[in-house]
Amino acid sequence: SQRNLDLVDSPTGRQHSLLGALDKTATPMGARKLRDWILNPLRDLKTLNARQDIIASFLAEPFLLGQCRESLKGIRDIERTTSRLSQNAGNGRDLLSLFTSLQKLPNLKSDLEALSEQVPSSDYQDHLVTQLHLFPDLTDLFEKALTDEPPAGTKDGGIIRDGFNAELDELRSASRDGKQWLAELQETERKRTGIDTLKIKFNNVFGYFLEVTKAKVPLVPDDYQRKQTMTNAERYITPELKEMESKILGADERAKQLEYEEFVKLRQAVADELDRLQQCADSLATLDILLGLAELAQLYQHTRPLLDDSRDLEITNGRHPVLEQTLVDEKFIPNDTLLESETSRLILLTGPNMAGKSTYIRQVALITLMAQIGAYVPAEKARIGLVDRIFCRVGASDDLTSGQSTFMVEMNETSLIINNATENSLVILDEIGRGTATFDGLSIAWSVAEHIHDIIQSRTLFATHYHELTDLSRTRDGVENYNVAVREWNDDIIFLRKILPGTADKSYGIQVARLAGLPPAIIDRAKDILSH
Ligand code: ADP
Ligand code: MG
Repeated sequence: SQRNLDLVDSPTGRQHSLLGALDKTATPMGARKLRDWILNPLRDLKTLNARQDIIASFLAEPFLLGQCRESLKGIRDIERTTSRLSQNAGNGRDLLSLFTSLQKLPNLKSDLEALSEQVPSSDYQDHLVTQLHLFPDLTDLFEKALTDEPPAGTKDGGIIRDGFNAELDELRSASRDGKQWLAELQETERKRTGIDTLKIKFNNVFGYFLEVTKAKVPLVPDDYQRKQTMTNAERYITPELKEMESKILGADERAKQLEYEEFVKLRQAVADELDRLQQCADSLATLDILLGLAELAQLYQHTRPLLDDSRDLEITNGRHPVLEQTLVDEKFIPNDTLLESETSRLILLTGPNMAGKSTYIRQVALITLMAQIGAYVPAEKARIGLVDRIFCRVGASDDLTSGQSTFMVEMNETSLIINNATENSLVILDEIGRGTATFDGLSIAWSVAEHIHDIIQSRTLFATHYHELTDLSRTRDGVENYNVAVREWNDDIIFLRKILPGTADKSYGIQVARLAGLPPAIIDRAKDILSH
């Protein structure tokens, strides 16, 4: 069902999944949690209402909504960063990322507190705000300790800012002075020897050395000791150069070690706050989702569904949450839905191919699911009796890898639904029985529909091209027939995308074939055969 409803991914990419359509989160933590919510909808009215309340508060204060979302945008992955650091992994960049995030918290928190003053807040909202701990000591520490661009490595320095550790500052100035001394030495040696191309260089094998080009070698004084001969130059050292070298390298080495020790202390400071940081990250993720859902509701006119424990489902002008965002040329046509346990628990939907049957039945499932994660829904109005499960079989999908035929897969999925659905479930069946010959397909579809209506009694939407099935409504109280309106115009067919009571009068297969470009001769012959 998760796959058939394209909940978190779709054959045409994540952006066409429900997650893609709902995800307005600003942080990676929010995005991960939203995925989790979509895959784990709730049946708990209290929590769902509490989530809706927060969305409602933000919609009432759009300015604060914008402000809070702005703060969230600067917040990085606190959750993963802190867990890396507290497991003795991570680097200076993780610390900086945490620092950047923590700096945004005070503003966010004060905006949330302002919201609570404007709109009465629920316990749940208060709880989320309370969990949004501020970390003034940690922020202060990071501000003093961290450089602006720490490197990826932790052992080569570059993490700790000047002025944070006195010993480190001394070592750094020793190293700086040493390098200054070298620059001066180069000058004085050039003057003393008259070799104006003399250079002091460094490599990892010999350390510091004086380099003289071959032509100037006769000018080299006696106190230079030759160390290495190159093609164009000779390299020398002197005792005073080596002495300074050990001072500089010693200072650099010690400084790196000291920086690493300071890094470990900072990392420990994070580990000491692990629990509170994780609580804060969790609260941020939840707020991020709810703020994103509020933003989405504002953008696409989603409304707050009324949730209850009934077995009804009442949607006025509902839209498909994903398709309505992706349609470009056409406008999405909204449709109503009324499922009710006694008089209309099973809807048989007929209509030609391409009319919009699959879209409509999925839309009902998606709206229900959105309501059960606490989101607002793409409808003018909705009342949703909470469902315990959503089952969805859509289209014929070949499972080639496991060697099962289309029909076998279809029957497996159908029996899974029959064996697990309850009177509180929502069942979406699309073209059951299509994978086999017409008559046994129709027979199976028929008896499945009867069983669901009579025995299971779940709310069910059944899209089918078997018009014969619509006879069921004559003998069963809970079965209602609907069809997707089309209009014939000359020899063409126009899709109106409106769901109306009653059955489709014919299947318009030939018109659809014509639209698809089958040659006129074939179309005419098919009409002939049909009328025979
Ligand atoms: P069916 O299952 O009846 O063959 P689909 O549900 O697959 O038809 O719909 C076919 C196409 O019609 C969809 O891909 C979509 O682009 C368009 N469509 C369906 N429902 C609507 C609607 N309510 N408003 C606008 N376009 C729609
Ligand atoms: Mg279809």
